[in-house]
Amino acid sequence: MVVEYHRRGAVAVVTMNRPEYRNAQNSAMTYALDEAFYRAAEDDEVTVIVLAGAGPHFSAGHDIGTPGRDAERSFPRRAGLWWDHVGKAGAESRFARESEVYLGMCRRWREIPKPMIASVQGACIAGGLMVAWVCDLIVASQDAFFADPVVRMGIPGVEYFAHPWVMPPRVAKEFLFTGERMTASRAHELGWVNRVVSRETLEDETLALAERIATMPRLGLALTKKAVNQAEDLQGMHAGMDSVFGLHHLAHAHNAETADDPLAGQSARSMKAAADGS
Ligand code: ZN
Repeated sequence: MVVEYHRRGAVAVVTMNRPEYRNAQNSAMTYALDEAFYRAAEDDEVTVIVLAGAGPHFSAGHDIGTPGRDAERSFPRRAGLWWDHVGKAGAESRFARESEVYLGMCRRWREIPKPMIASVQGACIAGGLMVAWVCDLIVASQDAFFADPVVRMGIPGVEYFAHPWVMPPRVAKEFLFTGERMTASRAHELGWVNRVVSRETLEDETLALAERIATMPRLGLALTKKAVNQAEDLQGMHAGMDSVFGLHHLAHAHNAETADDPLAGQSARSMKAAADGS
């Protein structure tokens, strides 16, 4: 199972489970996450949802090179009414696919009317950031680090472009321009990680926080979540993301036109080598 689902009292724990690939997200995982979140949203016994990653890393991002890569596979769409990307050409295929599996899914999950807590250890990179950012709270272990290195592909950040709402604009620019890793303590200092704990206590601390929140009334939590999300959207997040999604696809199209590849010839291996400075 690429996603595990467990209920512990009032808390549903949803775990990305491809540790051998640092939980790289293929579409099979995206749809399995959607199913798990749907199940947690619908279960009256569940008040709070925790999103975790199995193994030493939370998520290395979207799957751009494991044997389980399934970008050319059809799935019944869940996030919106865009048609199937399979069998379509060029930008039409990419736009339809990413509207569904990346931006659409993330927005759908952000709207889940139950608090979601990301429990993050090790690498949380690019597409990993997206799923952490759709959660309401983030608890990170001291070894956690965050990066969005896709500018190396000529792309202005991942599809769910929350960067300038998550962190101050000048910090967002540095984060993107350099592609460098941000530590959990720096993210905590900037206010976008709620708690930093030891690796050994990450699971217990996340569950303790979830259980504490789970004592609050369900509707109160749902309305509070909506209130803060609406405030973010009034600060331009929703419309801003739409406008950046166009730039993101301009970059994919430019790459496809000039480098025969929407990722500008970069692979998981070359991206990792650049990050390691080799
Ligand atoms: Zn993209």
